[in-house]
Amino acid sequence: MKADAQESQSLVLIVDDEPFMRLILRHFLEREGYQIAEAQNGIEAIKVFKQLHPHIVLLDAIMPDMDGFECCSQLQNFDCSKYTPILIVTGLEDQVSVDRAFAVGAMDYVTKPIHWAVLRQRVKRLIEQSQLQKKLEAANVELQRLATIDGLTQVANRRRFEEYFNQEWQRMKRDKRPLSLILCDVDFFKLYNDTYGHRVGDRCLQKIAKTLKYIIKRPGDLVARYGGEEFAVILPNTNAEGATHVAEKICHAARTLAIPHKNSQVSPHVTLSAGFTTEIPQPDSDIEEMISAADRALYQAKAAGRDRFVQNIQLPKSKNSS
Ligand code: GH3
Ligand code: MG
Ligand code: MG
Repeated sequence: MKADAQESQSLVLIVDDEPFMRLILRHFLEREGYQIAEAQNGIEAIKVFKQLHPHIVLLDAIMPDMDGFECCSQLQNFDCSKYTPILIVTGLEDQVSVDRAFAVGAMDYVTKPIHWAVLRQRVKRLIEQSQLQKKLEAANVELQRLATIDGLTQVANRRRFEEYFNQEWQRMKRDKRPLSLILCDVDFFKLYNDTYGHRVGDRCLQKIAKTLKYIIKRPGDLVARYGGEEFAVILPNTNAEGATHVAEKICHAARTLAIPHKNSQVSPHVTLSAGFTTEIPQPDSDIEEMISAADRALYQAKAAGRDRFVQNIQLPKSKNSS
């Protein structure tokens, strides 16, 4: 029976110093629908492996120049070998050889003379398993990414915000460096939805998120969707002067987007209000208090007329305060 379509594209690298052995393996596996590459010793095998990235390697143990054990061990060093199983095909039947093969990274072991029905199943299954593992790991990476991203706006979600803010708070505390946090909120967004509909509202949030991501360029900075129409920007290693600059840019960028908002009470376009706070986290300071401080500043920006940013000024603690 022929291998299926996916297997028929699989490339098998046959490594054996005996030309006759390579020939019969090639004939057998070609009949099964595999593509074949050959090498006659370990050194050549590594060269072919790097060039062709085979799906599986069938590796003889005893060969001149570089034997199968050494070759198997060296192949483990290549990134591209992570999903390439190595099947040792050898006349050696002693326990030491078997143990050594697995110790240097072989996935499986068959002995000569070859039991063809067994070899057929081993090759098929080893390729299937490694390809499945590759897909699973890629899916896992994608899942982890999705778990931290807000579906609508594609910026970090609230969960990621909490995690990152905590991490940077601790880091800035250790390094005695300033941490800034900006909270921004779309002005009169309920009215925007009422005027243009919820779907247009969604698109407006997407545009704002995209603009924020464009503005926030430093690799350590993070833009997150903090709530419905509220975004947070974490700026590690950034003093109040730097945060002022960013907050100003954010408000300005929202204006220049010029998204019509005919019922807004402050502008014919959608605007943002922002509040920020900067501090060097102290051993006795409270992370929640820093978020509250940014929130209070945001509230002040709203109260002062919106379409602006306000810095929360931390009052120095009185010695007698509890
Ligand atoms: P203010 O200027 O004081 O911020 O007023 P506001 O209307 O923006 O604030 P309010 O908190 O009263 O209303 C927020 C609105 O944001 C209400 C809610 O329906 C809307 N909103 C929250 N999340 C989403 C969303 O994902 N999509 C859309 N389209 N609207 C959202
Ligand atoms: Mg709002
Ligand atoms: Mg709000």
